[in-house]
Amino acid sequence: MTVIPLVDLAAQHAAVAREVATGWRNVLARTAFIGGPEVAAFEAEYATFTTSRHCVGVANGTDAIEIALRALGVGPGDECILPANTFIATAEAVSRTGAVPVLVDCVDDDTYLIDTDAVEAAVTARTRAIIPVHLYGQAAPVERLLPLADGIGAWVVEDAAQAHGARRGDLGAGAGGHAAATSFYPGKNLGAYGDAGAVLTGSDDVARRARMIRDHGSARKYEHDLPGLNSRMDTLQAVVLSAKLRRLAGWNAARRDAAARYDVLLSGVDRVIRPRTLDGNEHVWHLYVVRVPERDRVLKELRAAGILAGIHYPTPIHLTPAFAGLARVGLARIGGALTVAERTAPELLSLPLFAEITVGQQEQVVGAVQMALG
Ligand SMILES: *Cc1c(COP(=O)(O)O)cnc(C)c1O
Repeated sequence: MTVIPLVDLAAQHAAVAREVATGWRNVLARTAFIGGPEVAAFEAEYATFTTSRHCVGVANGTDAIEIALRALGVGPGDECILPANTFIATAEAVSRTGAVPVLVDCVDDDTYLIDTDAVEAAVTARTRAIIPVHLYGQAAPVERLLPLADGIGAWVVEDAAQAHGARRGDLGAGAGGHAAATSFYPGKNLGAYGDAGAVLTGSDDVARRARMIRDHGSARKYEHDLPGLNSRMDTLQAVVLSAKLRRLAGWNAARRDAAARYDVLLSGVDRVIRPRTLDGNEHVWHLYVVRVPERDRVLKELRAAGILAGIHYPTPIHLTPAFAGLARVGLARIGGALTVAERTAPELLSLPLFAEITVGQQEQVVGAVQMALG
């Protein structure tokens, strides 16, 4: 049986292997493994690529969200509004600042993006940040959240961990709000060979503070002016990220072609709800997520056929024991009905998607879905 993985990183590695080997040899010869010219170069390249003024490389995406929030002054006594249907890290990062995560619903239009009306309804006097998640590879409508945030003196901090290179109008995902965070976890559209992440911002001051917070609150060795943490980017990871970044636009275009092909192949399959792209968005298809009835049975049958589909995410954050425990002691809060997140979660199914997926593989996936649905 041939297996079709959810993501396939081998082809990506083959494309950059020589460049990475050369870059790593240079780093190893210098034996300087944290920061340095490679990290500075990648930061400049990624800022340009995302149309952001500043990019601050950090250790992972979860830290990036925390550092962005802390650089903006978010902390104990504050509330941050975020969608319930995201990876747990978005909420975790809020908790780690000492602020309270407030969960709201996603919109009922097959985009699964944060419901901006629900955000407005969840605002209180304590709201300090709104965190839209650019889920599955397309940008949430940040332009609708900015006036709301500005009106209440809050920040918009984008979680762009799934949207490397995505655009909304002329703006890159992550360049529309006051700050943004991204992740270079290996399976993301731009992935390191281990953990890495970045803070993006248009503000010189937020960038300066983020640089200090990632390095023990320090701008000069042993001078600690802010409470910080250890979240620097490894030099070896920057080498990988620069090499891959040069190819990312091409890989994203290939993902877009594959998503369009799934759209066509699935258009004839009853009972499959295809994902929708918002007008004005350039989607980068981190994930191609459909909804199907009897999802768990369908998933089992796909896996039995060697098709390693996934679920993003099986449990909305408010239904996890971790969140429930925080909510019981007032450290997390539900900001309204979470009807859409709860109704759609049991139906979500992520089909295999990567830049090198072949037409034959996609036909096999769709054939198996069709078979499972009878
Ligand atoms: C991957 C991801 C993160 C966390 O990134 P890490 O690098 O794994 O810490 C945060 N938010 C979203 C939406 C993600 O997909």
